[in-house]
Amino acid sequence: MPKTVMRYCPFCRKHTEQKISQTKKRSPSSLSYGSKVRARRRGAARGMGNLGRYSKPAISQFKMTGAKTSKKTDFRFECKECKKSHVHQKSFRAKKVEFK
Ligand SMILES: [Zn+2]
Repeated sequence: MPKTVMRYCPFCRKHTEQKISQTKKRSPSSLSYGSKVRARRRGAARGMGNLGRYSKPAISQFKMTGAKTSKKTDFRFECKECKKSHVHQKSFRAKKVEFK
């Protein structure tokens, strides 16, 4: 990846030179609302207690963490003219991203 690109800046409303920086994606915590909803759909974490059965393994084992080996890129573009940054709309999968 190049460090700077000529891109459209929505603040300047024209193409400007913009610096690319990568932001680290925040990994969802194991007890986020979405994970509970997904776990519930799979039949886990339903009701309180274990309903007389032996306890099931933790929800984290059901989740698809680590299923993909590549990560989606998450770029921020900082305009050199107005110093404002905006997010790349289209990200792609890559195992490793280097700036040169
Ligand atoms: Zn700008």
